Amino acid sequence: MFLRPIGISKEFSRRLATAAAQSPKLTDVLIVGGGPAGLTLAAAIKSSPTLQHLSTTLVDAGDLKGKVASFYDNPPDEYTNRVISLTPPSRSFLQHRAGASLMQDRIQSYDGLYVTDGCSTATLDMERDTMACMIEILNVQSSLLKRLSDLQPDPKAFQLLDKTKVASIEYSDPEDIKSWPIVTLDNGETYKTRLLVGADGFNSPVRKFSKIQSRGWFYNRFGVVATMKLEYPPYKIRGWQRFLPTGPIAHLPLPGENATLVWSTTEPLSKLLTSLPVEQFTALVNAAFVLEDADMKFYYKQLENGTMSTEELIEDVNFRTEQVYDSLQVEELVDEIYPPKVATVLSESRARFPLKLSHADTYCGERIALVGDAAHTTHPLAGQGLNMGQGDVEALVDALERATSRGSDIGSLLSLEPFWAERYPINNMLLGIVDKLHKIYSTDFAPVVALRSAGVNIINNFPPVKNLIKGILGESGK
Ligand SMILES: Cc1cc2nc3c(=O)[nH]c(=O)nc-3n(C[C@H](O)[C@H](O)[C@H](O)COP(=O)(O)OP(=O)(O)OC[C@H]3O[C@@H](n4cnc5c(N)ncnc54)[C@H](O)[C@@H]3O)c2cc1C
Repeated sequence: MFLRPIGISKEFSRRLATAAAQSPKLTDVLIVGGGPAGLTLAAAIKSSPTLQHLSTTLVDAGDLKGKVASFYDNPPDEYTNRVISLTPPSRSFLQHRAGASLMQDRIQSYDGLYVTDGCSTATLDMERDTMACMIEILNVQSSLLKRLSDLQPDPKAFQLLDKTKVASIEYSDPEDIKSWPIVTLDNGETYKTRLLVGADGFNSPVRKFSKIQSRGWFYNRFGVVATMKLEYPPYKIRGWQRFLPTGPIAHLPLPGENATLVWSTTEPLSKLLTSLPVEQFTALVNAAFVLEDADMKFYYKQLENGTMSTEELIEDVNFRTEQVYDSLQVEELVDEIYPPKVATVLSESRARFPLKLSHADTYCGERIALVGDAAHTTHPLAGQGLNMGQGDVEALVDALERATSRGSDIGSLLSLEPFWAERYPINNMLLGIVDKLHKIYSTDFAPVVALRSAGVNIINNFPPVKNLIKGILGESGK
């Protein structure tokens, strides 16, 4: 008998009951999640001469075939707000092994990062040709969907089920964890799979089913993102990041006079920043890269209390920033030290995301693999989250190719373990470094500021360590 769980509609429960009665469809690989990690995996499998024969099914809750795919053929005039820094190895994997033809005119390569401390004069100038590129997540996803459609795989060999949620997962033989998992979808269909891949993000249903533990914490910080229009194009095509005591603010280039913002900050401030009129928000962005923390606190208070008008704020920010520019000995230094001024921010582009660290104890079990945010999430201050996911996918594809060449079962732990063994230590190191940076910079306590500033000044003048950091920022992926 099929019992209807509380909170589930009659129609849904009828579909589940029908599904339970039907025999499941068989698939070699079932990928849950059509974010960047899941789509890259599907395209890489279908592009691999060794793996393309595997029947593969991708399930995602979102509108991939409509909203996401149409981005490729009908891109909007303005840049969207979810923009990430993609390292050269990740880009190379996407283009050469997953076969994605990225929309090149919407990508901006950049040549380094200029990092400053909002509580001291310490700076870290990390110049490096083509350190990484800024790209919209929709560009990545829609290019991969185009690739999958251009491959015109046999519908039996590849199936994309969008606007479809995974409702439940169970082993075909509950007594045997080596038995093939059965995935029931909310459209009533069931799939039995040799390998179940969780590319299903932070709340991963696949990870929950696998009972793999994930550890971590919320940072009690939010990342406010926005698309910005600049007053003039940048003098150097690079990123600027300033560590404020509430979190880092980053100004990263997009083609022409466009740029993208990631402002990590406390929850109340993130609410304030996303609710202010866009002119006030723009003035605060310009202020945050130049003025002292005391000035910023003053503005936040005034705006919270509604005791400063937009005109007064803009006038005050302009006056104080000009004073700072004038205090520089060499006029050209303004363009060196500070990002180009923001003319306006696209109002609809403002959004905020909770920031957290999480890491799964392992990325595989019998018939299970986890990639991307399902396995780990990190603070965006080093721009590594999606790149780590690309590295996972590449390592998983390598492991599947090795297993297939040897005639092994692709879902067995033996076949999957090399993927985990390769990725876990690298991801663990990156998660640790980013977490420590977040903690060291989340304070304005004078002794800590003095110590970190001394450290940063040493690194800035010590090329071997500086090159190591540039390497980490530009070479993660695999
Ligand atoms: C503010 C901010 C800035 C960032 N900047 C960078 C950066 O510069 N560089 C970088 O590398 N990374 C960055 N990241 C991280 C990056 O955005 C993520 O790591 C990446 O998008 C995760 O991709 P994913 O495919 O693993 O997961 P997701 O994009 O979360 O995709 C998961 C998919 O699973 C689907 N799904 C979930 N549950 C179900 C279900 N039950 N049934 C069906 N489908 C389901 C969802 O619909 C979703 O499409 C940033 C993150 C934030 C918040």
